[in-house]
Amino acid sequence: MSLHGTYEDDNIFAKMIAGDIPCVKVYEDDIAMAFMDIFPQSDGHTLVIPKQAKARNFLELPGDYVGSFMQRVQKVAQGVEAGLKPDGIVITQFNGAPAGQTVFHLHFHIIPRWEGKSMAGHGQAGQASPETLLPLAEKISAAIGRAS
Ligand code: AMP
Repeated sequence: MSLHGTYEDDNIFAKMIAGDIPCVKVYEDDIAMAFMDIFPQSDGHTLVIPKQAKARNFLELPGDYVGSFMQRVQKVAQGVEAGLKPDGIVITQFNGAPAGQTVFHLHFHIIPRWEGKSMAGHGQAGQASPETLLPLAEKISAAIGRAS
């Protein structure tokens, strides 16, 4: 998949928004949805996606949507910080397959980091069970709720 192309309505994140496939959700409003990455690069690896825009990548996100969407990215990152108390947070985002993108609905990765604890590479992590992800998601969503 190149940097530009046709948005495919049946991509996995669009199916999550539609509720057709499950995810471990931490946040949702009319602008964005956030959920646990099922192949987490570190504990608490969270993805934030726009709900309304059919954008394959950040370059395609309509300009008048950028502000409201990035507010949600920040809100979820603040929830990750408050809920999991990491020492640092990586926020990253890939545009086009040559850049490492594998799912073609825009998403931001929020990856907490702890001193002395390594992080798996992008696309290198093993699959996590819902039992592992749920308690982390609960801490993040509770922290977002407390801040709202
Ligand atoms: P990217 O490679 O930047 O396009 O990121 C796609 C991300 O989606 C990867 O970090 C995957 O681990 C993650 N992912 C793929 N399938 C699922 C799924 N069913 N639930 C949650 N995260 C997923």
